[in-house]
Amino acid sequence: MKIKCPKCKEAAELAPDFSFVKCDKCELDMSYGEYVQFVAHNDITYSDILGDYTGGTEGENAGTLDEWD
Ligand SMILES: [Zn+2]
Repeated sequence: MKIKCPKCKEAAELAPDFSFVKCDKCELDMSYGEYVQFVAHNDITYSDILGDYTGGTEGENAGTLDEWD
């Protein structure tokens, strides 16, 4: 199925069995697990940017995502 590429925002392909995510536009090629971490990390970064406004604590779910920096 088509999903939004986390890198270039174009249409990426998610395998029907959720085994991988691929994007032809930016050559994204990762497992679905990696994709989820990638998106989660981006969301956390976004939350951090908005932290001063919302005072939210969602960023505390960062866990072991440091490798994506
Ligand atoms: Zn892409």
